[in-house]
Amino acid sequence: MKPAAFNYAKPSSVDEVLGLLVEHGGDAKILAGGQSLMPTLNMRLSNPSLLIDINGIDALRGISVTGDEVRIGALTRHVEVENSVDIAKYVPLISLAMPSIAHPAIRNRGTIGGSVAMADPAAELPACLCALDSQIEITGQAGVRNVVAKEFFKSLYETDIAEDEMLTAIKIPKLAPGYRSAFDELARRHGDYAMCGVATHGKFEKNLISDLRLVFFAVGGTPIIATNAMDAIEGMPVTNESIIAMQNALGDDLETFSDLHCSATLRMHYAKVLTERVLTAFVKL
Ligand code: FAD
Repeated sequence: MKPAAFNYAKPSSVDEVLGLLVEHGGDAKILAGGQSLMPTLNMRLSNPSLLIDINGIDALRGISVTGDEVRIGALTRHVEVENSVDIAKYVPLISLAMPSIAHPAIRNRGTIGGSVAMADPAAELPACLCALDSQIEITGQAGVRNVVAKEFFKSLYETDIAEDEMLTAIKIPKLAPGYRSAFDELARRHGDYAMCGVATHGKFEKNLISDLRLVFFAVGGTPIIATNAMDAIEGMPVTNESIIAMQNALGDDLETFSDLHCSATLRMHYAKVLTERVLTAFVKL
């Protein structure tokens, strides 16, 4: 199928984008890598009257390291993040997750801003950003505001970005001393969206875990922070007993669902298996 007719604009500044968003409201859509948007247009699941192509705005590209933060511009492609030495050094969780995002052809075009703005509940990056206490930079005509990741993802494909705003960058705290990350997911084929996945970040010192974030994706409408499981391991060593305590606590954290890919029961089983895998990886790093 071909998309319904639309107008096309290619502004060269964020101010121009914001002007167009104000003028057209919900009838306009931002086009970044197009990897998710173009299929939805072709299937006529979305019929915007205007596409605002942001690919000409160089100010939205690139990775910079300043003070205790790594800033990734919204238009930075997945492949650049995947290959970045700074990302591997300062935010290794993101490096661990990148190869699981779709396939190389999609990572060559897809952008971090598009992925986060899309808020697919099975996407890897939203969970990683919640685990890392990241900030999402949103820009509107009133100025720039920063929203913590766990408050940014509102519900299925719904974020804190208003119709007249755009996502301009992601800001992630640099890896602190004693902290580590682990990541894993289960998908039918490598590169497919996950049936269940988990991003983990926390402190491991003197054989004890503290300040652990355990964030699941593909198990609910948004990334799910498994607070009961996190509490179960706080201040403990990683042992069979502490892993079982975490797995048992997951029953209070996750309300898994059934779909074409697996049943709710199997999804919960996957969450438990992945918890054991990431905790084991965490201590072996
Ligand atoms: P686009 O498609 O251009 O835009 C996506 C949405 O975000 C649109 O609504 C657009 O208006 C909005 N948007 C884009 N940029 C901004 C911005 N700066 N501010 C506000 N709104 C904006 N992703 C995963 O995470 N994991 C996977 O396993 C995975 N598998 C995939 C498999 C296939 C076959 C395909 C086609 C895609 C897959 N994806 C997966 C999605 C891929 O990562 C996309 O690149 C990503 O979701 C969207 O990025 P994009 O730059 O292409 O955004």
